[in-house]
Amino acid sequence: MAAPVIGPEIDRLIQLLARLPGLGPRSARRAALDLLKKGEASMGPLADALTVAAARITSCSRCSNLDTPISCHICTDARRNKSAICVVEEVADLWALERASYGGHYHVLGGVLSALDGVGPEDLSIIDLVNRAAEPDVTEVILAMNATVDGQTTAHYITDRLIDCNVSVTRLAHGVPVGGELDYLDDGTLIQAMKARRPF
Ligand SMILES: [Zn+2]
Repeated sequence: MAAPVIGPEIDRLIQLLARLPGLGPRSARRAALDLLKKGEASMGPLADALTVAAARITSCSRCSNLDTPISCHICTDARRNKSAICVVEEVADLWALERASYGGHYHVLGGVLSALDGVGPEDLSIIDLVNRAAEPDVTEVILAMNATVDGQTTAHYITDRLIDCNVSVTRLAHGVPVGGELDYLDDGTLIQAMKARRPF
């Protein structure tokens, strides 16, 4: 039998890279080759960043954003609007809304309610959210869950839980995307856009 072309060190690197989301075996091989070609200049900073992230990054005890334990850069930012909490499923959603220049605070649920996957209210940070919504500064809770069945079920559940808090509960509008052509939209998006129409 012929000896393997790829040595165990490189093979391990490829195997680890291939476990990352969005990187299949082919992209993992390309990424590994690129790193190896560039050598220490490319691999050193990456290895350092991974070591620092593994040692220092954790969930914020208040909003569940990922940051260093001493200071979540969102919770400690005094310029942010204290009156609004935007509720999202995952940190990736928080990052997306930051790109949209939302200037308030966040609450990351850590998922959505799902009977199929056995996720109940106790598995999400809903009690923490209710406690935060009861703080005197907070006047609005914006529900920014995904427009999926589980996302909307979770939004309804949270709305019920916030009934005794003195806050207005809003949700993101669903409708025609900027630059979207009607003919290319799915029926659900079109129906929502028609229902949520506003005066021109
Ligand atoms: Zn935080």
